[in-house]
Amino acid sequence: MSGKKIRLSKSSIGEEEKEAVLKVLDKEFLGMGEEVMLFEEEIKAYLETDFDVVCVNTGTSALHLALEALDIKTGDEVLVPSLTYIASFQAISACGATPVSVEIDPNTLFIDMKDAKKRLTKNTKAIMPVHYASSAKGMDEVYKFAKEQTLRVIEDAAQAFGSQRNGKKVGTRGDILCFSFDGIKNITSGEGGAIVSGDKIVIQRAQDGRLLGVEKDTQKRYAGQRSWDFDVKHQGFRYHMSNIMAAIGREQLKKIDTIGSKRQSIVQYYIKALKDIKEVQILDFEFDQIISHIFVVKAKNRDALREHLINNNIECGVHYKPNHLLSRYSTDYSLAVTERIYEEILTLPCHVDLEIEDQMSVVKSIKEFYNE
Ligand SMILES: *Cc1c(COP(=O)(O)O)cnc(C)c1O
Repeated sequence: MSGKKIRLSKSSIGEEEKEAVLKVLDKEFLGMGEEVMLFEEEIKAYLETDFDVVCVNTGTSALHLALEALDIKTGDEVLVPSLTYIASFQAISACGATPVSVEIDPNTLFIDMKDAKKRLTKNTKAIMPVHYASSAKGMDEVYKFAKEQTLRVIEDAAQAFGSQRNGKKVGTRGDILCFSFDGIKNITSGEGGAIVSGDKIVIQRAQDGRLLGVEKDTQKRYAGQRSWDFDVKHQGFRYHMSNIMAAIGREQLKKIDTIGSKRQSIVQYYIKALKDIKEVQILDFEFDQIISHIFVVKAKNRDALREHLINNNIECGVHYKPNHLLSRYSTDYSLAVTERIYEEILTLPCHVDLEIEDQMSVVKSIKEFYNE
């Protein structure tokens, strides 16, 4: 067993983030105020979009609020790939709606539109494609389908901040997009998330919804005021982002280009080094367009390989256990592709502090395992 543990993922925080937090603490205005407003403006500028940005406390709340903003409720159904983080499913069921598990394409692990069509009912209100491992390849077909069926689209772009689709940043087009800034995502605000949309009603509902439904409270807070006389029409939540979080996020956003090229070079190294191992398959992504939050391969004899890597002090993961295999979301149909892929996928270490020597050890261990 080699000495140093190679981590699967981790936050990467510098002096800049620490200083920014201290500044907020010194100002003694910790809740949602100027920092959050500035973070939202800076995200909008970075994305180069006309869409508006609403920052919240997690990516999961972003998804939940987006669905609430569309009045998705009990009796409604939302199409979602089973192979996703539990957050996508919990956000849907939090509204009382039913997440309907859909198959994935075996090469892109993106929602399979042929299967989505089969799962459509008169209760289907929306579709939630997931940018698995930051890839949005397949999004065009989702929008085509949504248009035909008049469905709303909530993109779970939690993993895709900074990535592009057809040469434009994810977040500049589409219906509603949700990002996550949790500790290990492409950029972090400690925990955090954002809703991005061009739909003014959705934006207004999300702005109010994050502050207990208090109408126009966001505008008040950004002007340094509070709401004393107000109205509430909808269910709201305490989902707003704090100034402390936004201060971290603003510093991280300044580093996005460095973070992006580091993650891209990690991925490029893996692709080149693993290319000749026939037991390992790289996913069919446009890697030059994306900032990979996780690096996933399909591997023969996955469980044994995983054990071998762990024994060599290399952390790895399986993203994800399909949701339709969980008690809460179990289905009366099986999803053959998803279930097969679940046996094959393995996530290799990928984070900004990963060193070339670490990657060499990972590749060496994989080659060792397959006797190559
Ligand atoms: C991280 C993630 C979320 C949830 O974001 P949090 O900020 O952790 O709540 C949702 N969906 C996917 C696919 C994710 O990776």
